[in-house]
Amino acid sequence: MRLEVDDDELAACVSCGLCLPHCPTYRVTGEESASPRGRIAAMRAVHAGAEAGPAFTSFMDLCVQCRGCEAACPSGVPFGRLMEGARRTLVAERRYQPWWRRAGYRLLGHHRLLLAASSAAALAQRAGLVPARLGLPRLPVRRPRLDASGTDAWLFTGCVMDAWMRPTHAAALRAMEATGAGVTPVGAGCCGALAEHAGLAEVAGGQAARVVASMTGTAPVVVDSAGCGAVMKDYGRLLGTPGAQAFAGRVMDVSEWLATRPLPTGRRLPLRVAVQDPCHLRHVQRAHAHVRTVLTPYVEEVVELDDDGLCCGAGGAYATVHPDMAARIRALKLEAIAGARPDVVASSNPGCAMHLAAAGVVVRHPVEIIAEALGGPEALGG
Ligand code: SF4
Ligand code: SF4
Repeated sequence: MRLEVDDDELAACVSCGLCLPHCPTYRVTGEESASPRGRIAAMRAVHAGAEAGPAFTSFMDLCVQCRGCEAACPSGVPFGRLMEGARRTLVAERRYQPWWRRAGYRLLGHHRLLLAASSAAALAQRAGLVPARLGLPRLPVRRPRLDASGTDAWLFTGCVMDAWMRPTHAAALRAMEATGAGVTPVGAGCCGALAEHAGLAEVAGGQAARVVASMTGTAPVVVDSAGCGAVMKDYGRLLGTPGAQAFAGRVMDVSEWLATRPLPTGRRLPLRVAVQDPCHLRHVQRAHAHVRTVLTPYVEEVVELDDDGLCCGAGGAYATVHPDMAARIRALKLEAIAGARPDVVASSNPGCAMHLAAAGVVVRHPVEIIAEALGGPEALGG
């Protein structure tokens, strides 16, 4: 089986092993096959003609796609692209993704249907009809309205985050508008990140094209989900058109965008805040420093986690597909959080926030903390 990867990129790994301590699945298992180096060796063997049996599929599937290895690699191996290429090949040749996962990824592109399904699930939850073992957060029955205030910037609202965590978008709007900008929120459905990570390139491409078409012009496209922002900055490669390339150049994480603005004066909240860097903000967008810049004026103290940005185990849909491994990885993050003794953990990614909250951690998006400092918690709606 020839994998859909670039031969030179696959050959770039020199097997030095420097990435291993940054790999959450290797840290938890100690297994070479669960390390970046082991996964690349397996890809090379299959690419050279070895049988791609169930073991190969499971080695690929167990990767969280956090790309901590990529950031640590001195040889510049683009591990994320290699893994996406391997999964695309498995999808094409082995029907690697079962029908129910494919259906789920497609549903994310139909936003009204997702909102309706989410509201129905919220009512079922209130009636005690949703088993706790599914691990769903408490879903909202109602969501705050998001009104446009101008055309200086777009705010991308996404899919699951808009259905389950819209108060975070309301806080982002509040923080952005407080800098004097007029903002238009846009609900264009899923950005395509989850489908892309699953190897479903066609689904991802369709979703990405819809997002590009929904925010025309030259205004910045601001994103308050690190995972969405990472793939949207990569739309040029994903869609391969000049329009998509230009769009990708306008995408900014919300903290990255706020850091370019005159931050308004607000209260200083009596909070010790530990920043949890989502992998796709730190290792992929490399924009995590802005979170500290924009939080610092509004809280008593910003503290770092002593784990060198190790993944928390959420990984988009990973925690749903591999709940045991996700929980074992999260245990390492919980240790780091306990060591920092924060009042609250700030996370810029909805998946990380839900995964940590499910373990009892008090988590808020940085913009929620900023919005509270600017106007009181009652302003956030719910
Ligand atoms: S991916 Fe990079 S850091 Fe990891 S073994 Fe290969 S060359 Fe070394
Ligand atoms: S992407 Fe993350 S989980 Fe996958 S091999 Fe790299 S460090 Fe390990």
